[in-house]
Amino acid sequence: ELVEEEDKKADAAKKALKEKEYAPVPPEWVLQPPIAKGGLAEKFRTGRCIGKGGFAMCYEGELRSKQQGMNKTIFALKVVKAKMSQKKMEEKFRTELQIHAKMQHPNIVEFHRAFTYQESTYVVLELCSNGSVMDMVKKRRCLSLPEVRRYTVQLCGAIKYMHARNVIHRDLKMGNLFLDQEMNLKIGDFGLAAVLVSKEEYQLGLYENAKKRRTTLCGTPNYIAPEILEKGKGGHDYKVDIWAIGVIVFAMISGQPPFQSASQNEIYRRARSLEYDWPQKDKHFNDIPDEVKDLVAQLLKVDAEERPDADQIVSHPFFSMHGGDAMPLVMEESFTREIP
Ligand code: ADP
Repeated sequence: ELVEEEDKKADAAKKALKEKEYAPVPPEWVLQPPIAKGGLAEKFRTGRCIGKGGFAMCYEGELRSKQQGMNKTIFALKVVKAKMSQKKMEEKFRTELQIHAKMQHPNIVEFHRAFTYQESTYVVLELCSNGSVMDMVKKRRCLSLPEVRRYTVQLCGAIKYMHARNVIHRDLKMGNLFLDQEMNLKIGDFGLAAVLVSKEEYQLGLYENAKKRRTTLCGTPNYIAPEILEKGKGGHDYKVDIWAIGVIVFAMISGQPPFQSASQNEIYRRARSLEYDWPQKDKHFNDIPDEVKDLVAQLLKVDAEERPDADQIVSHPFFSMHGGDAMPLVMEESFTREIP
């Protein structure tokens, strides 16, 4: 049985729904006020509900007014929980707006706009109609090696792009990896992301802030790198994302995160001592190839410095084993917007 923090999140969402403090059902039409003076308003027709999270309900939204530079018409329209205080809202969206809006990569959920209409806050995102990798693993129990290869290469492409711009995601997990119509992986939810300006600045300001938010808003223990938990131990940097990739690769292959335990402290203890077991060969699993085990061992290094970067990950033998069925190793880099 796959138990994960997303389940808890869903439970919390249900509870919130019960308590009627959840995001309001949007009206049939949602108008985004013109961005520029004298510009045109954008009009979205709201469609079916496609998901709920701790902070928002997500609907399909069809853009009805023709907008320059927009060739798509169906988007994900996130309606933010109404009763969130202004301060909480700002905290939640500051990073999403500032960082997510500047990310443009084929494997990152495209952020279009955020606006307020009739006292609700809406976020317009690229629609990922096939849910998340988490949903897929839940349904299928585990993924095949070619699938894991493909998703990992796509994930590494996006991570390479982000890290090259000093952006750390810090909340990579299967539930934040969305899948579009063509089953391409798209990283979403930049709520905990940070721009690594300088080590000092990071440790002093953003680090404390993010840590506070992690415990108050998120609490996602399964994917947290050991150095994040070590107080006063030189801070952490973009290698926390690499640790999370290790957890994700393990989880995609074996159906649950490596350090899964009943208590948070036990998860942390097992992570620090690298206590994880690969599933035995049975009716669900074939023998897990050594290449897979080695890749995960490289990613889950307690010493962050020893973890590979995105380029090194995709050059691992796991991606070229069995000759023909390996995926093309294209690290796509297409973008126009830059982090200032
Ligand atoms: P929160 O920030 O409140 O946790 P999420 O970002 O997790 O909200 O979104 C809530 C749910 O909405 C997700 O679990 C998912 O089902 C759906 N969702 C979010 N973004 C998209 C998207 N771009 N495309 C399709 N569905 C999405």
